[in-house]
Amino acid sequence: MTDFTATKAMFHLPEGVVYLDGNSLGPLPRAASHRMQQVIEDEWGEMLITGWNRAGWMEAPLRVGDRIGRLIGAEPGQVVMGDTLSIKVYQALAAALALRPDRRVILSDSGNFPSDLYMAEGLIRALGQGHELRVVAPGEVAAQITDEVAVLMLTEVDYRTGRLHDMAALTKAAHAAGALTVWDLAHSAGAVPVNLADAGADFAVGCTYKFLNGGPGAPAFIYVAPRHADAVQPALSGWLGHAAPFDFEPRYRAGAGVARMRVGTPPVLALAALDAALDVWEGVAMADLRARSQSLSERFISAVEAACPDLTLASPRDPECRGSQVSFRFAEGYAATQALIARGVIGDFRAPDIMRFGITPLYLDEGDIDRAAQTLAEILNGRIWDDPAYRTRAAVT
Ligand SMILES: *Cc1c(COP(=O)(O)O)cnc(C)c1O
Repeated sequence: MTDFTATKAMFHLPEGVVYLDGNSLGPLPRAASHRMQQVIEDEWGEMLITGWNRAGWMEAPLRVGDRIGRLIGAEPGQVVMGDTLSIKVYQALAAALALRPDRRVILSDSGNFPSDLYMAEGLIRALGQGHELRVVAPGEVAAQITDEVAVLMLTEVDYRTGRLHDMAALTKAAHAAGALTVWDLAHSAGAVPVNLADAGADFAVGCTYKFLNGGPGAPAFIYVAPRHADAVQPALSGWLGHAAPFDFEPRYRAGAGVARMRVGTPPVLALAALDAALDVWEGVAMADLRARSQSLSERFISAVEAACPDLTLASPRDPECRGSQVSFRFAEGYAATQALIARGVIGDFRAPDIMRFGITPLYLDEGDIDRAAQTLAEILNGRIWDDPAYRTRAAVT
């Protein structure tokens, strides 16, 4: 059994805070500060440029990628780190489209995160080959997988509602129609069990600053199924994805396997923080994490529904159809979220009316859930949200 008291002790959480926003930015793993200090002083400070070889900076994107791979059902050498998730979406989609040159439709859903859709639009413009981004309701996806579809591009867990797609079934349907799949695991990696190999996924991407606690701006990852890894031609053909970067050849030659999805110089400091954050997972069984996420979520939903009749559950009621977050609709959700934050219970708000709560068993327990539900009830039933101070919108909601 996973010891969740032990994992909670591995995080720095500010005094008096219940943190229900680990689905947006994970908290600081205690080991990360020390590790970064070590890399800054002992490696950057002392080794200077020799750190690329002596401290293994150059291999870090693949080494850390292997650690992520263990959490998402990928084998060593199939995942590489770098850039941001938006960039990785672009790369994966471009690679997948190039493998289906006779088709023009990218199928996605309206629950997808806007940046994924924006990147697809930009790629379509750059290609100039008349591709179409077809966005349908999440429940319509399966029915819309036709033989026009080149790529099915979905985020497995909806960032607003937490609705979970059936990755294995949709991948199977896509393959049956001759299409490829790009899965965005932004709200899956570290949140729910993922097995890319079993699901037969072609490409997968994700960020590491949410449920993986890698820190603000932590590098993203990309997975390429081994059957495609040596066939794809990178759209972003940077020198570190070249077969021999230090030969400085004038023409691009793609590197071996997923390493060709590297672009430029890796973010060494950010990778060090992420590497330390991944140590937390060493003693964690994903099945235990999932069971505890579901039980904490059920506890939260029952308590909130019993005490706050003005809130409507926006997440699927069936825990099997939900990721690791719970969302409620409330017209004054923005102000209510600000009032919650002012009382040390941190969730977030997504327009137009979603109050979102990440349920992260690594550092949340029953006491936290009960306090969050009780504080929410006080705010709703005392109309504490109805205060101009809570209505001013900040740039980041
Ligand atoms: C968080 C998130 C992003 C953010 O992309 P960045 O490039 O890291 O800013 C993109 N897509 C999805 C599905 C997300 O949940």
